[in-house]
Amino acid sequence: MGTETDARKDIIAACIEMNASGLNQGTSGNISVRYEDRMLITPSATPYRRMTPDLIASMDLSGDMTGGWDGPLKPSTEWGFHWRLLKDRSDISAVVHAHPTYCTALAILRRPIPACHYMVAAFGGVDVRCAEYATFGTHELADAVITAMEGRTACLMANHGMVAGGAGLEKAMWRAEELETLARQYYLAAQLGEPVLLSTEEIERNLKLFAGYGVKDS
Ligand code: ZN
Repeated sequence: MGTETDARKDIIAACIEMNASGLNQGTSGNISVRYEDRMLITPSATPYRRMTPDLIASMDLSGDMTGGWDGPLKPSTEWGFHWRLLKDRSDISAVVHAHPTYCTALAILRRPIPACHYMVAAFGGVDVRCAEYATFGTHELADAVITAMEGRTACLMANHGMVAGGAGLEKAMWRAEELETLARQYYLAAQLGEPVLLSTEEIERNLKLFAGYGVKDS
């Protein structure tokens, strides 16, 4: 593991990459990583290009969910589901949240992504669920995201956007990009007709293959 400053720099680099790739617009997205027993998370409403490592907020993961933080700026308003995922899920050490266009379009329809492509297995199951709607920044939204992510590494969020997690930031970013690609493909296919879905058995075969595929968990 690198230094805490390295982890803070990696978050800023990922934020800039998220906007350059079109995954995110403005400052609506937010990124967190677990560092030792703390969560490092982007501050609220701060343009990424002006962000410096000292502006990343730090929150304790060892105790209760108090909302207390260290740093000159408030953590992202969405710190709640980041905190819960990093606290509860040993398989997740980094979380990416954004409002990418195609994921959000499906989430506005409250439509999960079914087994329309083998890549659905990259998110841990036979579909990518859509979390129930709750007001941004609330404990109810954190509950909805935790439920939708059970046995999964990503979800859509009703009338809002998406969340992806990974064992490292690189993996979480890879999943976020792949989820938006999958959402775009499913959206386009659904314009032309009824998508043909893969069987549960076929997705389960892919889940086994995915155990050793993609960006390394680190
Ligand atoms: Zn959001």
